[in-house]
Amino acid sequence: MPDVTLHEVGKSTFNQRWLVELRDGARVECVLYRADTLCVSSQVGCAVGCPFCASGAHGLARPLTLAELIGQVEAVRALGHTLQRVTVSGVGEPLHNHAAVWSFFEHCRTERVGVSLTTSGGPIARLAEWLHAPHNGLTLSIHAGSEAMRARVVPKGPSLHALFELLEREVPRMTRRRKKKTALAYLVCGGINDRPDELAAFAERARPLALPVHLYAYNEVSNSDYQRVSRAEYERCYRQLTDAGLLVRMSSQARLEENGGCGRLLATRSEPRLFALRLT
Ligand code: SF4
Repeated sequence: MPDVTLHEVGKSTFNQRWLVELRDGARVECVLYRADTLCVSSQVGCAVGCPFCASGAHGLARPLTLAELIGQVEAVRALGHTLQRVTVSGVGEPLHNHAAVWSFFEHCRTERVGVSLTTSGGPIARLAEWLHAPHNGLTLSIHAGSEAMRARVVPKGPSLHALFELLEREVPRMTRRRKKKTALAYLVCGGINDRPDELAAFAERARPLALPVHLYAYNEVSNSDYQRVSRAEYERCYRQLTDAGLLVRMSSQARLEENGGCGRLLATRSEPRLFALRLT
């Protein structure tokens, strides 16, 4: 019996999404972006508890094994897809499953597949390690400019103080290549963290680091009352950050689609009860 079995649950212009059934009956999801980049899950659920996210809405059940991480890649390849890149940005906090994810990165490198991850930043000592690790991209989810907002949108993640203190120390020590591959993410949720003062506070913290910023537009999920921002408001946020001197990229079409985006993937425990999902 394979470690994972795929069932297609969604297909749109740029993306294809599968339910990933694990041997013990637990389920997560993975998404293929633009036919060549696979976003895999690293845990069944998540302990970070971001209120906008479906993936972690019911907490953490268990980490995925290395075999289950590799299994997602192999199962999608077996369907005939040629993968250029893999990102550990689906259900789960990759740094909470450090050993398996680290080994998975080593595996991908031996297979000559570019591999990246998205993290909320904790545990902070692990983040320090990952900032200098060989990877094809590390995106650090910030989503706030004030500590109050950070505690609201990433409740079990490290504080902004802890994150930026680490970044101020480590970024100058990173190689040019590592810096080029490291980015901050700000997920804009309508009426929550899109206020000018919140963005100004984020820009103030981020500017000295000179790292690129991924400004994502939120895609709504059924278990959260967080709302998508209007296109006009999203563009206003973009202009505010670029005017503040940041190098900002907006969400791609693939991320804006129904099957893409942050916190939308689901996870189900091995028990029959429906459990949680997320988006990145
Ligand atoms: S957004 Fe990421 S870190 Fe936050 S709860 Fe969802 S899966 Fe976990």
